[in-house]
Amino acid sequence: MRSEWDVVIIGGGHNGLVCAFYLARGGLRVQVLERRAIVGGAAVTEEFHPGFRNSTASYTVSLLQPKVIADLNLHQHGLRIVERKLANFLPLPDGRSLAVGEGRTKSEVAKFSARDAERLDDYHRRVGAVADLIRGLMLETPPNVTASGFLAALPELIKAGRLARRLGALDLSAQRDLLALLGRSAGDYLDDWFESDAIKAVYGFDGIVGNYASPYMPGSGYVLLHHLLGEVNGKRGAWGHAIGGMGAITQAMAKACRAQGVEIRVGAAVREVLVEKGRAAGVVCENGDIVRARAVVSNLNPKLLFRSMVDPAVLPEDFRARIGAYRMGSGTLRMNVALSQLPRFSALPQAGDHLTAGIILAPSLAYMDRAYQDARAKGWSENPVVEMLIPSTLDDSLAPKGAHVASLFCQHAAPVLPNGGSWDDHREEAADVMIATVDRYAPGFAASVVGRQVFTPLDRERVFGLTGGYIMHGCLELDQLFAARPVLGHGDYRMPVPGLYLCGAGSHPGGGVTGAPGHNAAREVLRDFGR
Ligand SMILES: Cc1cc2nc3c(=O)[nH]c(=O)nc-3n(C[C@H](O)[C@H](O)[C@H](O)COP(=O)(O)OP(=O)(O)OC[C@H]3O[C@@H](n4cnc5c(N)ncnc54)[C@H](O)[C@@H]3O)c2cc1C
Repeated sequence: MRSEWDVVIIGGGHNGLVCAFYLARGGLRVQVLERRAIVGGAAVTEEFHPGFRNSTASYTVSLLQPKVIADLNLHQHGLRIVERKLANFLPLPDGRSLAVGEGRTKSEVAKFSARDAERLDDYHRRVGAVADLIRGLMLETPPNVTASGFLAALPELIKAGRLARRLGALDLSAQRDLLALLGRSAGDYLDDWFESDAIKAVYGFDGIVGNYASPYMPGSGYVLLHHLLGEVNGKRGAWGHAIGGMGAITQAMAKACRAQGVEIRVGAAVREVLVEKGRAAGVVCENGDIVRARAVVSNLNPKLLFRSMVDPAVLPEDFRARIGAYRMGSGTLRMNVALSQLPRFSALPQAGDHLTAGIILAPSLAYMDRAYQDARAKGWSENPVVEMLIPSTLDDSLAPKGAHVASLFCQHAAPVLPNGGSWDDHREEAADVMIATVDRYAPGFAASVVGRQVFTPLDRERVFGLTGGYIMHGCLELDQLFAARPVLGHGDYRMPVPGLYLCGAGSHPGGGVTGAPGHNAAREVLRDFGR
């Protein structure tokens, strides 16, 4: 039977859109089916309180691939990304503070430790070399372990050989750093470099973002590295703000798709992947509509896809078991707050560049470790780790004049509450703790909150389809990375049902608003279509 569509994409998250664009540009007829009323997935801007808009889930941009920005002409479609005026600000309970940003970090760190200030350049050079290597792999399809004989294995061996050559090109210290960052904890790695708690807290925060782990747990080293892979307008490692919020990125992507002839349907939830004669043949929507296509590409996290939309009988048993064991739980609480005024930090009460920064409320790695241990015991910590951004200091389109919006990304809120508790019963209580935490650093903050929106891990699962609330579609740990993402043997975007592909953050190179999985998956689909 002739299908109306070459490819149907389940989910209009940013990776689904990027994939759709490249497929349509390659000459295929593509339809995107998105469950929510808006496209963008975890990269959306929404009104959360009358007159106040914000990026409701992901909130800051860096990892978005320059190639994707250029190919999709995102700037022409309205995207503008601005840099923060200061990268990070760490107010401390004793009234001191650390500002980290271009031209300032060294003198600021010297306030805490002359030795650490001396070591900064070397640290950046060494970590930068490892980040460059990983960055270079983001738009590549990992070599795929194959059990289908020598001919099928040959191209994969060539790919693996190329990778080995790149690794070999790193000097010995960079190779050691790579191993350390892949295998060790962010905390141990930073302890080897620095002595002052403040700089370790700023850098170590990257190791626990979205990662339900202590900074002293192995694996947090890679999470730290992952957050260094991006750039803003050509500045490596920098983080910025998309004017209009993260939704501006995905709205621009949707325009690029439509310009290529992609059909995007919103409010179109998919219920099931249709498999006929052993091949993916389309999808069945929640309303009973059947959309036939020659291939199905899923933007969903792999657990959601395979647990609820693919008949287990068509999947190899080993694959089912691996997906069952795929780790997705991420413990964060995400809040958007509407503010009547800007916060005044005791450590630096006047307004200034620090209010455009990623403001980290967690004075040390030991504090972060305790917050994690508390969360395991109780579900969250009374002394949590909070990162605050106030995007309205860079973008006046988000809040009424004179008012502001802030994103609070609160780390260490258990994906599933201990002792059988439900987040539905504890949402507001935990949110109050987060607000009180900010208030301790910036007295008057709590009184300035005129509206708030709270997403527990459970809420993120319900609203965004993020199983376990996990922001990256699956933990970024060595056995779930690169050729092993989501599962060893399927690191090349092709799933075990012929004609079924994965294009979301659960495939290489993982989470973040990168566009990379969508880009790479499209290349593999096009290859299979002979384009
Ligand atoms: C709270 C939070 C904070 C984050 N902060 C940042 C950040 O600041 N910077 C950054 O770079 N990254 C951040 N991330 C990570 C990043 O946003 C995600 O990794 C990325 O957006 C994933 O994109 P995706 O397109 O692969 O999947 P998603 O964005 O998850 O898209 C999947 C899409 O599938 C749709 N869908 C689900 N079920 C169905 C169905 N049955 N039928 C049809 N459609 C369906 C969903 O509605 C969604 O639109 C954050 C994520 C979260 C949740």
